[in-house]
Amino acid sequence: MKKVAVIGAGIVGSTAAYYLSKSPDVEVTVFDDGKGQATKAAAGIISPWFSKRRNKAWYRMARRGADFYQVLIADLKAAGIQTDFYQQTGVYLLKRDESKLQELYDLAANRREESPLIGDLSLLSLQEAHEKFPDLQGFERLLYASGGARVEGALLTETLVKASKAELVEKKASLTVDGEQLFVDGRSFDCVILAVGAWLGEILQPLGYKTDVRPQKGQLRDFKLADQTDDYPVVMPEGELDIIPFLAGKVSVGASHENDQGFDLTVDKMVLNQLQQEAETYLPRLATTEILGERVGTRAYTSDFAPFFGAVPDLPHVYAASGLGSSGLTTGPLIGRQLAQMALGEAGFLNPADYPIERYVKKKALKEDKCF
Ligand SMILES: Cc1cc2nc3c(=O)[nH]c(=O)nc-3n(C[C@H](O)[C@H](O)[C@H](O)COP(=O)(O)OP(=O)(O)OC[C@H]3O[C@@H](n4cnc5c(N)ncnc54)[C@H](O)[C@@H]3O)c2cc1C
Repeated sequence: MKKVAVIGAGIVGSTAAYYLSKSPDVEVTVFDDGKGQATKAAAGIISPWFSKRRNKAWYRMARRGADFYQVLIADLKAAGIQTDFYQQTGVYLLKRDESKLQELYDLAANRREESPLIGDLSLLSLQEAHEKFPDLQGFERLLYASGGARVEGALLTETLVKASKAELVEKKASLTVDGEQLFVDGRSFDCVILAVGAWLGEILQPLGYKTDVRPQKGQLRDFKLADQTDDYPVVMPEGELDIIPFLAGKVSVGASHENDQGFDLTVDKMVLNQLQQEAETYLPRLATTEILGERVGTRAYTSDFAPFFGAVPDLPHVYAASGLGSSGLTTGPLIGRQLAQMALGEAGFLNPADYPIERYVKKKALKEDKCF
């Protein structure tokens, strides 16, 4: 039996644990501190096809990540596990300059050839948009894509960790190395997956590593509408704001991207009030809607905003991923699956050379030992 430790039970770690546990020769133990977890705080949109990011490797990962949800859902369903964390209810895309909607339509129509998951594309008038989401305002036209989806991050990780039947140790763990042997929390393992998000630097620093991973604070506010929101599409205006309807009236408004707050987890009402005010332009009744709560999480990002994964340099049998940034709910399951495949010595869907870990995780040079 191969013993594998997965440190971090966010979207990457929980997916890795789930797929590792399918292998009959592997015993999985998951360690999770839970504090500040980005996945739990996120109300996620899976709709990468409209992005204009120039990084082609990132886009390849994001579109395959969106596709991979179909595999994950099918795998869970085949095992009789509920997948309430994911619904493909479509997305509404808004542009301040509505003449740019056609450009976005053309981009998506082109990309649909390799990503049929995008589904139906149509430019809708305000009245047509009301058929799927009543009372929206603040625009004359928008672009609808039926394949966009929403994900409840907390429910996803809970489902996967439970489905993995792995032992879950809910505490902060450390990794130590003695010769060839790996220890997590003092227990010996054959292989370790570091799925610790923004905390990768913290766990690798005592082993002599320098990492290019930074924390980004993200906040959102949850509301309870009286509507039956189950089939409402996600509304994506330009900028930070998204309005994300979930089941039974729940609607999330977010999310902030704060690069200067470190690992701070306090709710900043000013930031959330501003997001709400902007959201009211499109959904005025939010002003009088019950607030269910507010969430704060810490995303990980790198200096060039690119995610990475792979074998940690000079640390045999240790694999890591981080830097997923604001698209981690889209790319996380695919990366988690691939880390599990790497740990099992199998090839994955992505080429690790496109997301080189050695660019972001480096062993610090030992001080030269000299007398003068
Ligand atoms: C408000 C918000 C909104 C977002 N919206 C979207 C969206 O719409 N679409 C999208 O694609 N993405 C979105 N994201 C981004 C996405 O949520 C993240 O990129 C992704 O969840 C990161 O997953 P992860 O598994 O790498 O890290 P995390 O989810 O942060 O998980 C890491 C886990 O490791 C644990 N850990 C760390 N160190 C240790 C240790 N030493 N021992 C034990 N446990 C440890 C942490 O406590 C945490 O639980 C959003 C994020 C936020 C915060």
